[in-house]
Amino acid sequence: MIRVAVVGAGVTGLAAAWRLNRSGVETTLFEASDRTGGRVGSAEFSGRRVDTGPDALGPDPALDELLEQLGMTGQVEIPDPARAFRLTAAGDLEPFGVGGGAMFGLTGGIFSLPARLEEASREAGVDFRLGTGIGGIEEVEADFDAVIVATGAKAGANILGGQVSEALRAINGLSVTLVHLAIPTSRIGREMNGTGYLADPAEGRLVTGCSWSSAKWKRLAGEPAILRASIREAGQGEVIGLPDEEIVGKVMAELAPVMKIEGDPVETMVTRYPDALVVRDEEHAAAVTAARSALGEDSRIHLVGADFDGPGISRSIAGVRQTVDAITEGKADD
Ligand SMILES: Cc1cc2nc3c(=O)[nH]c(=O)nc-3n(C[C@H](O)[C@H](O)[C@H](O)COP(=O)(O)OP(=O)(O)OC[C@H]3O[C@@H](n4cnc5c(N)ncnc54)[C@H](O)[C@@H]3O)c2cc1C
Repeated sequence: MIRVAVVGAGVTGLAAAWRLNRSGVETTLFEASDRTGGRVGSAEFSGRRVDTGPDALGPDPALDELLEQLGMTGQVEIPDPARAFRLTAAGDLEPFGVGGGAMFGLTGGIFSLPARLEEASREAGVDFRLGTGIGGIEEVEADFDAVIVATGAKAGANILGGQVSEALRAINGLSVTLVHLAIPTSRIGREMNGTGYLADPAEGRLVTGCSWSSAKWKRLAGEPAILRASIREAGQGEVIGLPDEEIVGKVMAELAPVMKIEGDPVETMVTRYPDALVVRDEEHAAAVTAARSALGEDSRIHLVGADFDGPGISRSIAGVRQTVDAITEGKADD
């Protein structure tokens, strides 16, 4: 039996460990923090448990397969109505064609995916090492037949040395600040008859997306309404570094006229994700290619995760399937 180490227990590392274990590989999963899930997380907000990171999944056959293996196919939730809006330059909301809603949720929240992956993988015998950050690849390389690095590019740069490290440092993400707002529906003049709206930052908007979370997801229905505004910034960002009250003030200044909101929110929560969301462009593709070729084709070290195959979860899961299958092909019975 071959032995493989996975470094990083975000949703990608968890999916890798799960697939390795199912292929008959002895699998050890190292995670620096004391919880799994990485950028996927949850918190109590206004009496409900909200996703603090991703709140939807994109379609992909590899994700479908994973959900089926985990017995979660019946938990897929498509928002109703699956209608999104776009904020026009004039400040109006107009419907735009997402036809049938390409993105979907899970009835238990997206955070239920890593939770279920951890539960099922533990049952199946994956060795979980939480609170065990890997400082350098040499700490694990010798004991395993292969190592899957699923930490994200910046952490990966610190683990892997030399040219690989240099290539990984060229992978940059946008910084995202998420603001949850609880506001009684009676004080929101705009009907929330859809999933929310997107705005064009080129038109000078700070809030690039606002989900009407309590209308979008059944488990979040109720009073007060929950809205989730997101701010995306290049590089390290500026707004992300401001105090919570200032960020909420800026968000409300944009949201109030669009949503016809009177008064202040009754509860707010700000979550910060510096350098967390890669943009798939030519620069990104070149950096990923450089990192993977610096490792070399026959390398026993593999890079997976949102910073390489993403930015979304479903693409990362597809990357996991390809990588794990390449490792295990013909080797599982060795
Ligand atoms: C605000 C926001 C909203 C998003 N919304 C969506 C969405 O709606 N839909 C979607 O599909 N995607 C969304 N994304 C993208 C999504 O978050 C990622 O695709 C996914 O969560 C990344 O998973 P990952 O496992 O690759 O990385 P991570 O979640 O970053 O996991 C990496 C893990 O590695 C661990 N680690 C780091 N260094 C070490 C070390 N040295 N040793 C051991 N462990 C280490 C970390 O603690 C972490 O647990 C969003 C991202 C952000 C920031």
